Amino acid sequence: MEPAASGSPQPSSPSTSPPPPPQPSRYESQKRRDWNTFLQYLRNHKPPLTLTRCSGAHVLEFLKYLDQFGKTKVHVETCPFFGHPDPPSSCSCPHKQAWGSLDALIGRLRAAYEENGGRPDSNPFAARAVRIYLREVKESQAKARGIPYEKKKRKRKPTVTSVRLDVDLTSSVTGDGSNSDSPATSGAVPSLG
Ligand SMILES: [Zn+2]
Repeated sequence: MEPAASGSPQPSSPSTSPPPPPQPSRYESQKRRDWNTFLQYLRNHKPPLTLTRCSGAHVLEFLKYLDQFGKTKVHVETCPFFGHPDPPSSCSCPHKQAWGSLDALIGRLRAAYEENGGRPDSNPFAARAVRIYLREVKESQAKARGIPYEKKKRKRKPTVTSVRLDVDLTSSVTGDGSNSDSPATSGAVPSLG
């Protein structure tokens, strides 16, 4: 009195799993998400704003709007932790978008704008004002956290480094902060003839 189909093995597929289907790269999917976020921002803009009328000033507005979703604490100058890369306790300073995130975001949106039919010479993400704003954010965040970006720049790696920089900064709170590839001479004792 057993059910008929019990115990019959499925001969069709051996247990090897097929290779994963090709996926859009993380960069591409992130770019698409960013672009949709920006289009949505334009739709909700008051007064309404179309892409063709969008200027660098609007891009700056957008970047400032994103700060409310930021996760990077940026100390104000009056905070006792201003300039401390690793504060011993918390404070009430606001969270903002890290410079590295904004910089990468602008790069993706600049590309997306042209991929969606925008003309390079009217690309609002390539506007001078945007570049200046990003540089100001970078410098002020570097000061607020006591980390000079200039020093790290010396490594001169491709632009991807700028994103990594920011990851390093936030993760160094939990890490031991040691920098293995710095040319520290502390261990090496030179022989004195
Ligand atoms: Zn603070």
